[in-house]
Amino acid sequence: MEMDKLVSLCKRRGFLFQSSEIYGGIQGFWDYGPLGVELKRNIKNAWWHDMVSGHDELTQLPGAPSTYEMTGLDCTIIMHPQVWKVSGHYDLFHDFMVDCRTTKRRYRYDQVRGRWANAKGQRIFVATIVETAAEHEDTQRRAMKFFKLRAKNAEQLEFEDAFLSLTEIENMHDVLGPDAKELGTLTAPREFNLMFKTIIGALAGEEGTAFLRPETAQGIFVNFKNVLDSTRVKLPFGIAQTGKSFRNEITPRNFTFRSREFEQMEIEFFCHPDDSSKWYQYWRDRRMNWYTALGLAAERLILREHAEDELSHYSTGTADIEYAFPFLPAGEYGELEGIAHRGDFDLRSHMEGKLDPNSNPLVLELDEHGKPKHRGSGKDLSYRDDLTGEKYIPHVIEPSAGADRATLAFLCEAYTEDEQPDEKGNMQKRIVMKLHPRIAPIKAAIFPLVKKDGMPELAKKIYANLKQHFNVFYDEKGAVGRRYRRQDEAGTPYCITVDGQSVADNTVTIRDRDTLEQIRVNVEEVLAEIRSRIG
Ligand code: ATP
Repeated sequence: MEMDKLVSLCKRRGFLFQSSEIYGGIQGFWDYGPLGVELKRNIKNAWWHDMVSGHDELTQLPGAPSTYEMTGLDCTIIMHPQVWKVSGHYDLFHDFMVDCRTTKRRYRYDQVRGRWANAKGQRIFVATIVETAAEHEDTQRRAMKFFKLRAKNAEQLEFEDAFLSLTEIENMHDVLGPDAKELGTLTAPREFNLMFKTIIGALAGEEGTAFLRPETAQGIFVNFKNVLDSTRVKLPFGIAQTGKSFRNEITPRNFTFRSREFEQMEIEFFCHPDDSSKWYQYWRDRRMNWYTALGLAAERLILREHAEDELSHYSTGTADIEYAFPFLPAGEYGELEGIAHRGDFDLRSHMEGKLDPNSNPLVLELDEHGKPKHRGSGKDLSYRDDLTGEKYIPHVIEPSAGADRATLAFLCEAYTEDEQPDEKGNMQKRIVMKLHPRIAPIKAAIFPLVKKDGMPELAKKIYANLKQHFNVFYDEKGAVGRRYRRQDEAGTPYCITVDGQSVADNTVTIRDRDTLEQIRVNVEEVLAEIRSRIG
């Protein structure tokens, strides 16, 4: 599937719009339209239901080392600045960037790639941020221009096969930047912190500095004790949270995949250190199965264990669930979710040290080098087992998913083009979004075949009845074939048609979006039929 087709369908049918589009848009920010908001909400609701509210804490689930409890939280986006100092984000949450001195463009160092090109006795590295098939065209065109070659002399230009990362290139003087016309315009890589800063209160300046959270996880850690004290929850248990996170990504791109404002669905699962490896395995598999159960093809998903040198210093294991997004080169995958074994790093960091109660809570206390001091809350965040009396800092397994990336993956997977006969038997191209019924924005559409003979009245009655249970849509405009096609594009799994026979015998047809099979059922059975199919 070509990505352009999906992007245009998303805009045309109201799944996704560029933020502030009438002002030319703002890079890295996206709005969900009328269909998109339902889709994303259904995905978040499915996650919350399957992981939290619908979790059966009395039965041991397949693969789980024991039974466990799940609970939820909803924390603020702006937190005490010390949280980000202690979590490591203040000092370590950065990417390397390079700037182009002539175009003033900024790129993420590890995302610039390219090929060595040879012509006229010179070897240059032609850098690009374009991927897939268009990459070759881009590098070729720019290299030709650089060497001042005409089309008829194209054979004088030779490209080396390897598509390399800029990080592998030693001398920046040999590099033709992604938008540059001359060599050596890119600066050396520099650190760039990804947290958005803001000011609390009326006073500008360091006094009021705060950050928009770059992940929802920290809200869970700092509330760990509150949850223990306010519920009767016992280890092992998980705390879940969904919500907005913000990262000032240097090169937001690939539609919503890398945005600057996005939503996460995170679980921090607390367990005894001795059992943590087993729980890590459990969550890896559980989360992978969640995506396939909602319709992502297993052959487009991989579970990638991080190599030892990729792991954070505190982690003994991290696996990414990755999807073969169509905008990536063949054989490459993009992260949907990370599952990390975080040990006791977070709770221990928030526990150790002590913040001076007289200090201004919004000022990061600096040490003699002008760097904020590493100081936790000084509060005891350990857990005491009532049965054994053992006191310890729990270990944490963190399945951390992105709601927008999941939505994008489900949209990519769903996009299908096929050919179907119309009413006259002529083959017609059809675009159909094969979204799983559980996440489809509209569950069923109700059509009177024609706008007379009592059909609209019956159809509206069915609509009003179903509307109390799910999101359904009423449409009486245009030929019924066109109404079907509009619903196919919206991903609506079922269309209910009221025809002449319906008025006589109180039956309607239900058409299945994917198989195109039509069955006739009694009006009284429609709700149960749709409900059982949605699952
Ligand atoms: P990446 O390597 O792609 O930048 P990450 O490893 O930094 O991602 P995490 O910090 O593990 O990501 O965040 C957990 C999840 O949050 C990711 O798996 C992803 O689904 C989502 N996420 C992270 N950054 C973004 C972003 N800029 N836009 C959309 N979703 C994001």
